[in-house]
Formats: sequence, structure tokens, C-alpha cells
Amino acid sequence: MARSVRVVGGGLAGSEAALTLAKLGVPVELWEMRPLHGTDVHTTDRFAELVCSNSLGSDALKDARGLLKAELRTLGSSVLACADQSRLPAGKAFAVDRDQFSMLITQAITRNPLITVRREEYVHLDPSTLTVVATGPLTSDALQHGLQDRLGTGNLFFYDAVAPSIWARSVTPGTTFLSSRGGDNSDYLNCSLTKEQYYAFVHALQTARRHIPDIPDEQRYFEACLPVEEIARRGDDALRFGPMRPIGLQGRPADCFAVVQLRRENRAGTVLGLVGCQTSLAILEQERVFGMIPALAHAQYVRYGRMHRNVFLRGPAVLGRDLQLNAIPGIWIAGQLAGVDGYMESTVLGLVVALNVAAMLLGVERPDFSSDTMTGLLVDYVTTRRDDFQPANANYGLVVSEHTAKQKHMDRERFVATALQRAHRIAEEVCTWTKTNAIPI
Ligand SMILES: Cc1cc2nc3c(=O)[nH]c(=O)nc-3n(C[C@H](O)[C@H](O)[C@H](O)COP(=O)(O)OP(=O)(O)OC[C@H]3O[C@@H](n4cnc5c(N)ncnc54)[C@H](O)[C@@H]3O)c2cc1C
Repeated sequence: MARSVRVVGGGLAGSEAALTLAKLGVPVELWEMRPLHGTDVHTTDRFAELVCSNSLGSDALKDARGLLKAELRTLGSSVLACADQSRLPAGKAFAVDRDQFSMLITQAITRNPLITVRREEYVHLDPSTLTVVATGPLTSDALQHGLQDRLGTGNLFFYDAVAPSIWARSVTPGTTFLSSRGGDNSDYLNCSLTKEQYYAFVHALQTARRHIPDIPDEQRYFEACLPVEEIARRGDDALRFGPMRPIGLQGRPADCFAVVQLRRENRAGTVLGLVGCQTSLAILEQERVFGMIPALAHAQYVRYGRMHRNVFLRGPAVLGRDLQLNAIPGIWIAGQLAGVDGYMESTVLGLVVALNVAAMLLGVERPDFSSDTMTGLLVDYVTTRRDDFQPANANYGLVVSEHTAKQKHMDRERFVATALQRAHRIAEEVCTWTKTNAIPI
């Protein structure tokens, strides 16, 4: 068996896996099908392209995604290092300049002498070369069928929606105010709606025409990322207590009843994303319905919202604890395909798989993240049997599922301290690997 590793998919997880393996001295062949075969959503041929929001979530340690980032930093994640370099001001959120971010990762990969890039679609699952499959939610049809054939009915899929973005210059002057929710900075442009305007907007959302291509009857959404019209359908007030809540905003007009927040998508601030407005409305309906918000009456769209496919494996049924396929030893699954959801969650599984594969090659024990870390909780989640499997974000509810009632009073500060201690220990241990062992190439 050749001792180089094939990584399939140059997204968040595949890029992290390839760069981590190379750091540990393992030669990598990185397969990426773009630009020869595109996906419905990617628009460039770069690695680690962020396909929707440019926010990587909270960076605060008390939030699960913040802790996940801290663990990634401690473990030396290359993807997070590029994110840190591309960071934009965005209140409590960690937003990046998407072009700079993917450019930095692309440079790191193409300049790495241990990584060979192959622009090709991977179709046949071939374990004669150690392989990490990280093809993500838009895994090509041919590979998806291959996975289904080999893993039986262990595969399923559902659909997500993407939010629109607009040109900043097209926002109606004098109709917005700057403020971050609960923060003292002004990173968000808030489009204010009066009570009348809000209910008119909600009723329009509830009845607007949607564009849902080829989606089966048993269509299922990911609950943490519902289309805005789906939230509106759940009740007239659902949005104003959800993504459109006006609370915690300084300087809001007296008649402000709800807001749509706009967040910059690039460093220059020329493009703004409509926060929480992922949608499957038909294009003309997006212009009509979002146009009812005074600030967006003349909005020019850089990208319309849309529905997209989201392929994932039923992780617990098909994956071993090291994220290797039970049915095909020699093939590991990383990223969203394993059953997590989110940029950072996908990245962390890329890192974990890379460490597991390198440990096997070096003949050392693979790191045990245990359920003391957010990383370990995500690995547990995708590898522990459960009936109602749905992709998971990093969240403290994962701790609850481990320790049930005790966690009602969970001490987050203690959890964070323990998690970071363990991550430090693992990072130190990994540093010793290549000093005392050689990769048998
Ligand atoms: C439209 C959309 C919007 C999303 N929005 C968000 C968001 O706002 N925030 C968030 O946190 N998460 C979001 N996600 C979820 C998610 O975490 C990201 O998709 C993340 O990029 C997943 O990382 P990944 O590495 O697993 O897959 P990707 O980043 O998608 O990388 C997979 C790569 O594999 C390539 N590929 C696919 N099939 C093959 C093949 N057969 N051979 C070779 N290459 C192949 C693809 O071209 C792609 O480059 C979104 C997902 C989608 C699809």
C-alpha cells in the first residue's frame, strides 16, 4: 500500500486534512473536481471557498463555536490561521473576507511541496490508496451513487437555503442605522421596519412563490438554518422574536418593530449579506418581498438566495470512532459528509481525520479527544448510534446528551478550561510524533 494519502475534496475539511497531513510529513494527493466539474453553488476554482455566509460564527469561548475555534487554534489548524488573517470587523461574529481567505488557503496548498493537486472528479471508492473523502454537502452525483451502492441505505440527504447578498451602494440612504446586537460597536447595518411594515412583509413571505427544484415530498430542512419564509409560516411573530428581533440595538428609531441586519461580506464593505434571510423564493419574488423593506426598496442583488442539496452520510451507521468507513477500511470520511454542519465543524473533522491517518502511518496511538472537548463531542455525535440522526453544529446540547440531567447546571467555564487543557496536551503529543517516528514512504 502506497504511504501517501489521497484527500478528495478541496473544501474546508479537505484543505485542513491536506495541510495537516503535509505538516506531519505525509505526502498528499489532493483531488478537487472544480473547475472541470462545478457544483450548483461554488463559483471559483479556489480551495476552501465559503459558499454562503462569510461568518464563521462566534469567537467567544462561552459559545460552543468559539470553543471549537479555540481548540482548532490550539491544535494548529491551518484553515483557522488563514481565517485569522482574513478577519473582518463583525461584532461578536467572526467574519472573514471570503476572497482573501480562500486565496490564502489556495496559496498554502499549491506552494506546499508535499501536496500534489489533481483537478479531477473522484468516482470510484478505491481503498488501495489510503483515502480521505471530504466532498461535502454537494458531493458529485457519481460519487454519491458510489457511496450509496457500497453503504446501502445508510445515505440520506436533505435541503438547505442560502441568503441573498446585495451591493451596499443600492441600500436606500437614510433608512438604516449602525449597531451590533448587545455590542458596543457598529458592525451591522440595520434595516428598520415599523409594525405595519413588518406584518406586511411577513404576510408577503407566507404567500410568495418559491422555487424548489426536484425536491421530494419528504423534503426536510436543517432546523438551525430554516428559510426565512418557513420561519414566517410558523407564526406571524416568529421572525420578530428570531432573526429579526430588534433587541440589544443602540440608536434604533422609536417606531422600530423589527430589523433585517446587513453584514459586510468583503473588506471594502461593497457587498452586504442579509443576515438570517436564507430563502427559496423565486428570484422575482425575492426582489418584490425583500423590496418591501424600505432600505432594500432598490436593492441590487450580487447573489440571490436559493435552495441547495445537502448530502450527508448517516455517520453512526457507517463510521468507526476514527471516522473510517466500517465497510471499506482505508477510506475515512471528513467534513460535512460525515454528518456535521458548519464551516468550522467541517474543518475540525478534517483535522481529526488527518491526525488519525497520520497516527496510523506513524504507528502511534491516535489522539483521544474524548467528550471533554467540543471536537470530541462532534466526533461522538457522528459515530454514536442514534435513531434520529440529523447533522449537528457545535453546541453545548451535545454535552447534555452525554450527561443528561447533571448538565442543567453545567459549568461552562470549567468545561472550556478542561477542553483547552486536553487540546494543549494533544497538540504537545502530536509535536513529538515526527521527532521520534518516520513516515514509511
Ligand atoms: C449552499 C450552502 C450554504 C451553506 N452555508 C453555510 C453557512 O452560511 N455557514 C456555515 O457554517 N455552513 C454553511 N454551509 C454548510 C457547510 O458547513 C459548508 O458547506 C462547508 O463548506 C462544508 O465543508 P466541507 O469541506 O465538508 O465541504 P465543501 O467545503 O463543500 O468542500 C467539498 C469539496 O469537494 C469537491 N467535490 C465534490 N465532489 C467531488 C468529487 N467527486 N471529486 C472531487 N471533488 C469533489 C467540491 O467541489 C468541494 O470543493 C453551507 C452549505 C451549502 C451547500
